[in-house]
Amino acid sequence: MDAATGGIVPPVHPSTTYERDSDNRLLGGRLYSRADNPSYDQVEAVMTALEGGSGSAVFASGMGAATAVFLALRPGDHVLVPQVIYWALRSWLVGWASDWGLRIEQVDMTRPAAVAAAAKRGQTRLIWIETPANPTLAITDIAAIAEIARGAGARLAVDSTFATPVHTQPLALGADIVMHSATKYLNGHSDVVAGTLTSGADDDFWARIKAVRVQGGAVLGPFEAWLLLRGMRTLFARVPAQSLSAQAIAEFLVGHPRVEAVLYPGLAGFEGHAVAARQMRGGFGGMMSLRVKGGAQGALAAMGRLRVWKRATSLGGVESLVEHRASVEGPQSTTPPDLLRMSVGLEDPADLIEDVEAALG
Ligand code: PLP
Repeated sequence: MDAATGGIVPPVHPSTTYERDSDNRLLGGRLYSRADNPSYDQVEAVMTALEGGSGSAVFASGMGAATAVFLALRPGDHVLVPQVIYWALRSWLVGWASDWGLRIEQVDMTRPAAVAAAAKRGQTRLIWIETPANPTLAITDIAAIAEIARGAGARLAVDSTFATPVHTQPLALGADIVMHSATKYLNGHSDVVAGTLTSGADDDFWARIKAVRVQGGAVLGPFEAWLLLRGMRTLFARVPAQSLSAQAIAEFLVGHPRVEAVLYPGLAGFEGHAVAARQMRGGFGGMMSLRVKGGAQGALAAMGRLRVWKRATSLGGVESLVEHRASVEGPQSTTPPDLLRMSVGLEDPADLIEDVEAALG
């Protein structure tokens, strides 16, 4: 709410700069909007409350938020990252971050024993996980990896974009930093690109991350921050409904003759289901993937016949989207070629099921 007027909707604060008085003192304590702005503060306060952290920072994109965590490390630091991870972040890690001196090692994060074996005390500074993971929905046990990180003297950061704060609170499970592509569920309307980080502690590492934003300049505009806050007001109405629909669609598709596998953490037969059931509350999210019989051709043909689902990249909006990830990721992709990633929207689940069933043929 707006304390100055009593308006129930907060105003946008477009000013990039703030005035000083005749004694050269800043009137409101703020200097310049690359550093801070009341429109960022509002989103950050909500994120800190939702994630149970000590502070948050909004960024110009999810990638801006994620890369800020790695840029806060130092050359030579050893970092463990998942084998299944949002592909653009993997490309940045194995390309740019490695060139800049981080020692990036990819590990199967679904196997805590493999992570424990790879973590090196005194060298590993960060373990990065993504759960559920894009695009296979692989589940990582946050509490188990947090314990390994603590034992190795490393920090744990979690990309919680698919889980959302509705279903998972990584900090309560022992993580140090939570990241979201706010472009997805937090905003929820496919009309803002943004990212957030929330820290469990107000420590030196968090100060370095915030310095990456202020000095590197990957800051969100005030209008986008305001729009994001508007989207976030309906987060707890949208996400549970999307998760319910996803569960119904996934259950319907299990055993379908044209489907090789349904990848959804809410299915009892899914590999990570037991861990997901422990660390996700109130549902398993609106993301699922389908492996279609007939390889890439079978998947692309089925996708081409969809009428209600939109063929588009991204996820977490009110409209259902489907994408053939291997085509988008290109020749370096490790995604199975028969996989369609599906972001369940807010349409009638019966319509979504009927559409998929007709498309599968
Ligand atoms: N993390 C995950 C799991 C994502 O799916 C994405 C984007 O698809 C990102 C991070 C990057 O976010 P952005 O596109 O907002 O930079």
